[in-house]
Parts: sequence; C-alpha cells; structure tokens
Amino acid sequence: MLKVLKFGGSSMADAKQFEKVKSIVEADPSRRVVVVSAAGKRFKNDHKLTDLLYLCYAHLQYGVSCNPVFTMISERYIEIRDELGLKTDMEGELAALREKMNKGISQDELVSRVEYFAARLMADYLGFDFLDSELWLKFKFDGTVDQEATYEALRHAADGHSVVIPGFYGTMPDGTIKTFSRGGSDITGALAAAALDADVYENWTDVSGILMADPKIVENPQPIERVTYSELRELSYVGAQVLHEGTIFPVREKNIPLNIRNTNEPEHPGTMIMEEFEDLEDPAHRFITGIAGRKNFSVITITKNGMSSEVGTLHKILEVFDHYGIVVEYLPSGIDNVSLVVGSDKIAACQYAMIADVQKAVHPDQIKVTENIAIVAAVGRKMAFKPGISGKIFATLGENGINIRMITQGPEEMNIIVGVDNKDFARAIQVLYNSFVK
Ligand code: ASP
Repeated sequence: MLKVLKFGGSSMADAKQFEKVKSIVEADPSRRVVVVSAAGKRFKNDHKLTDLLYLCYAHLQYGVSCNPVFTMISERYIEIRDELGLKTDMEGELAALREKMNKGISQDELVSRVEYFAARLMADYLGFDFLDSELWLKFKFDGTVDQEATYEALRHAADGHSVVIPGFYGTMPDGTIKTFSRGGSDITGALAAAALDADVYENWTDVSGILMADPKIVENPQPIERVTYSELRELSYVGAQVLHEGTIFPVREKNIPLNIRNTNEPEHPGTMIMEEFEDLEDPAHRFITGIAGRKNFSVITITKNGMSSEVGTLHKILEVFDHYGIVVEYLPSGIDNVSLVVGSDKIAACQYAMIADVQKAVHPDQIKVTENIAIVAAVGRKMAFKPGISGKIFATLGENGINIRMITQGPEEMNIIVGVDNKDFARAIQVLYNSFVK
C-alpha cells in the first residue's frame, strides 16, 4: 500500500504546522511520498513565500534592492528550522541563492526555491530522503509534461524510499527550471501518485474537503463526502474553485482515488474523489452533490419561422460563432428558435459584427440578446435515479420569487442548469442549498 500526500502552503506555514504534518505522515506507514508547497500564510494578512519571491524578481528586474523582502523569506525558514531543532544549512542555501540572484536567475528558477527549501526542511524533519523535482519532473519544449519520461524517472528515483518532493517545478529538456502555473504543486502530487501507482493521492489543505457551495455565498456549507471525477468537472466548470486544473488528469487516468483532507482536522475524512461509487441507490445519501454557478452570461436567441425543419441552420449559426472563436456554453432550443449562451466578456468586442454575420447567414426573423444572466448548476450523479429533483429546483426558485430565464439538463442527467438574472444569483444558490441540504 502506498499513499502519496501533498501538503499545501497553509500546512507548511510554520513549525506548528510542520508538527501536524509529521504526525499525519507518521500515523500511517503507507504514507511514504510527501510533496510540499512553499510556506503559506500563517494569518490573514501574512504572505505566501512564493508571492514574496515573485516580488524579489520584480525588484531585480528594475535594479532595486530586494534585501528586505529576501530577509523576510530567509527568516521564515530559519525560524522553522530552529524551532524544530533541525540541521539543514539554510544559511548556506540562502547565500548560494543570493549569489545566483546577483548573477542573473530566471523567474521560474527563483520562485521555485521556496518549494525547494520547504522540501529540504520537511525531509530533514521527517527523516525522509529529499528528492529534487529537477531530477524527475520533465517538461517538453512545448511546456507540457513529458509524462513517460517523468514517470520512469520518478519510479527509478523513489524506488523503495520514503521521500519528500518539492512541488511546483521540474526541468525543461535543456535543464532549466520551469514551474507550473500558480497552485501547481497539486499537479506535482498527482504526477507522483500516478507515476508510483499509489493507492490514494491525499491532498492536504486547510478545509475539510470540497464544499457543497461557495462559502462566500452560503454560510458554513457542508463538505462533499464523495464526488466522482465527472461531477467535479461539472462543478468546477460552472465556477467551483476546487483544485489546480491540471491535477485531476494524471490520477483519473490511472483510476487513483483523490482524497482532499484538512491538516488542521486530520480525523475528518474530507472529500473522496473517484471515477465511480457504489452508492447510487443509497437513500441515505444526498441527491445533490454540489451547487455552483457563474455570473455574466449573454443569451443570444435566434428566431426563424420553420427553423426546426430547415436543414443546416444551426450549423450555419455555429460556424459564425466558430469564426469569432466564441465558445457556446449551452444551447437550449425551441421549435423555431435556438438560444446560444456565451460569456458576456467573450463577445464584448465582436457582438455586433457577429450578429450581423448571423443575420447574413440564416436571415432570421429576430435576434435578441439578453445580458446579465447567471448560470446556476445543481450537480449530482444520483439525480438521474430520483424523480422530482428538477421539480423541486423549479419550485424552490419559484417560491422564492426567482425568475428562471433558461433551463437545460445535461444528457447524462448529472446536472440541472438554470439561468437566472445576475441579481438573483447568490439567492438562487442559497435557497437551493437550503432546500436540498439543510
Ligand atoms: N507555491 C506555488 C504557488 O504559490 C505552488 C503551490 O503552492 O502549489 O503558486
């Protein structure tokens, strides 16, 4: 049994958090591969060390001294080392980095160093080997991960060892360091789990799993116990902030369960993400997995008498949208009309030209644009098995005076999507949450 664990910035923020990490790792002998982020915020207005290094880089670019910022970074890690009584030569490491900075260092290499230091300290603390991601995480020249070479190299390097790995970076074919986009340590963990065929990928953070709704909208939403990869994709597509987008792919491909856990509440089971669960008929479980949404869509409704019996009209309309590079998010249709739901910001620059082209292409009777529409999606794998879910959604919104401007349901009956006015967005999510969860 092998578990790959990734600890986020808040789990690495200070010596106390390091202690929690250690007791989590030591509680289970199968927790042998640990991926870490850079130290994050300890309190609300604190800094994440990665942000400080980006700031250092900006100083270097403009030839302004970054000493005060660099000192803040140095002090954080030296403090962690001293509080934990570790031996890592941070002073030597920091001096070497400072010298490199004077000579010229790439932004990616510089910002990756806080993951590197974090992993060095954590390896020292856990008594695990430090395994530099420079040695195994390989990018191709096009900036994507060379999965085959990466997996092979990690299998070789980690074979039988207990290791701590820095997240967020790897190397280009020419040996230079490249980072993922922000939050990318999640991907490092997922790649490590996939490479080593782990039994589970535990992603340790500061919340007890993925929440059923956005906590900025719903007060104290409950965490989701179990969610399938497809449900998660639906939820994050409509706006739920979950994991770094590249995270899912490597573990999903290998059918490795992903477990989101809370370092500050290690007993909580968190959220388990898997390809499927055997709980479809389980009445004890909720029929809605999560509720999410996004604001600021435009609905372009094209009406033409006899449209449904005309061949090729929809194709011509979509060709115009393609031509302008506009992604159509939803496509509800009637007999003589079709609505195309698109992001308002996406069409801002081309709306009138595009409508003129649709006019020329299909000669409709009317084209109407409705702006300020929000999309709210209720997602749940078990919805398909339970009659009355959509009825309950519509009734709930109706009873609360929220006008539904559009309805669509995915063909797999895993989601029900309603369009409401932007102004009703938050309340729509609140009333749906209350009616399905509370
Ligand atoms: N330290 C990096 C960042 O702040 C990567 C990560 O934390 O996942 O984006």
